[in-house]
Amino acid sequence: MHEHGLVDRMMQSALAEAEQRGAALRAVHVRLGALASLGEARLRADFAHVLEHLGRSDIALHVEYAPERPSGLEIVGIDVVA
Ligand SMILES: [Zn+2]
Repeated sequence: MHEHGLVDRMMQSALAEAEQRGAALRAVHVRLGALASLGEARLRADFAHVLEHLGRSDIALHVEYAPERPSGLEIVGIDVVA
């Protein structure tokens, strides 16, 4: 049993946004605030695993830290290619 629902939801949001723009998702930029329930290592591991589920290997993950913000894991932007 493994759990990666948070990253699943993050990727569904990013993919939906790319689709809305009629473009292919190439990268996801996220910010980890003070309330993030996972650190970068776990985030990257889950991300790689979710990409496997999706059958995608062409999406990058960019992580920035914002320990001064009372927030969790947030998408701050996506890169797409038409
Ligand atoms: Zn899984």
